[in-house]
Amino acid sequence: MSEQHIAVIGAGIVGVSAALHLQRDGHRVTLIDERNPGEGTSKGNAAVLAIDSCAPVATPGVLWDVPRYLMNPMGPLAIRWSYLPKIAPWLLRFIAASRPERVEEISIALRAILLRATDVHRDLARAIGETAILKETGWLGVFESDKKFESYQWDLDLQKRRGVEYRVMAQEEIRQFEPALQPIFRHAVYYPENSYVLDNFRLVREVAALFAANGGTILKQRVTGFDFGAKGPSAVKTEAQSIPIDGVVVAAGAWSKKLTAMLGHKVPLDTERGYHVTLPNAQKMPRMPLYSGDHSFAVTPLEVGLRFAGTVELGGLEAAPNYARAEILMQHGRRMFGELDQSGRSDWMGFRPSMPDSLPVISQGRRYSNTWFAYGHGHLGLTLGPVTGKLIADLVAGRDAGLDLKPFAIDRF
Ligand SMILES: Cc1cc2nc3c(=O)[nH]c(=O)nc-3n(C[C@H](O)[C@H](O)[C@H](O)COP(=O)(O)OP(=O)(O)OC[C@H]3O[C@@H](n4cnc5c(N)ncnc54)[C@H](O)[C@@H]3O)c2cc1C
Repeated sequence: MSEQHIAVIGAGIVGVSAALHLQRDGHRVTLIDERNPGEGTSKGNAAVLAIDSCAPVATPGVLWDVPRYLMNPMGPLAIRWSYLPKIAPWLLRFIAASRPERVEEISIALRAILLRATDVHRDLARAIGETAILKETGWLGVFESDKKFESYQWDLDLQKRRGVEYRVMAQEEIRQFEPALQPIFRHAVYYPENSYVLDNFRLVREVAALFAANGGTILKQRVTGFDFGAKGPSAVKTEAQSIPIDGVVVAAGAWSKKLTAMLGHKVPLDTERGYHVTLPNAQKMPRMPLYSGDHSFAVTPLEVGLRFAGTVELGGLEAAPNYARAEILMQHGRRMFGELDQSGRSDWMGFRPSMPDSLPVISQGRRYSNTWFAYGHGHLGLTLGPVTGKLIADLVAGRDAGLDLKPFAIDRF
């Protein structure tokens, strides 16, 4: 397919990257989002390029943890009782993905795509004229509890098998390495391959602006459906108009399931809701992003302030946020850094688009060959958004991406 009119639905990090790469291939591209670019989940993430994160969320033994998740709504992973019947099929697949052999396969697929992520981020940063937005500092996982660190050995073993670079540090070294931290951490792991962006929201807005400056069209409209011709979708329908197209990319994050169903595929996509607290005047800034191994959240020194982000809440797309979860992040943050200036604090909740096996969908449609799907990046959407955009352009062009995309196929379930 060359020089076609392609619609990309969703202007998060995945959609803007796909739009830019398709534009580079000479296509006429219309990027459609009901919000402004970046205002979905891509707005508030922890901004970390987590190249080490090749373990799926569902790891062996997760089945025995589910009752605990249900009983503790303030834990790092919580399930809302009211949403349990709706998410039960997803949870069964999640548990199935935690089998040791499956975890091994998933980690191999994730590592392969993660290894390509930083290069494409560098390319995007150059393209928007902002190489300094990407901070190649590495990141540090810190542990107060010996028990948590002992159980993290499972992750370290998996990472070692996948060739992830890391260095374990003991208490004295941690204090010298990251003086902003309280001296309470007994173990740490430094991951030099990881990096972060100074402002994840600005990154998306600037990629969208570049796309528009190069002649791309951005429409702020909600997509409601499609018209179909002999070969597949021939128009994207929004609340305002019907837009004739040659092909369509669904990159609507956690909201992609219904649009995908309209294009002939049933996918087990749900959402892992997450929270952040950003302190613009914290007065304490670590040199690099940190990960709390005790409570499973990230801390990132952004240009907009110090951000604490993470936790997983299985509660669907409709329920109101429970900002008590953000307050818990804040309490853990105070333990890490001591008192923090909370003036100007902002709390946020976002919807990670999550597949039960923690692998994204990066795929051509099987039902219609002029459809492509790019979502389900869960905890890794910022990391993998740019490389996903590039891979989608390869798929549209029929180019060999040099990467096995079968693990990311839309019909793998
Ligand atoms: C607390 C938290 C911390 C995180 N930290 C990290 C991190 O450090 N590193 C990392 O790699 N990832 C992280 N993530 C995950 C990452 O933020 C997501 O995976 C990523 O933002 C998903 O991007 P997206 O483009 O797929 O979706 P989104 O950014 O949600 O974009 C989808 C867009 O589609 C639009 N849309 C939906 N339906 C329609 C429709 N019908 N018509 C028009 N438009 C529509 C929406 O308006 C939205 O703008 C984190 C997530 C959370 C919640």
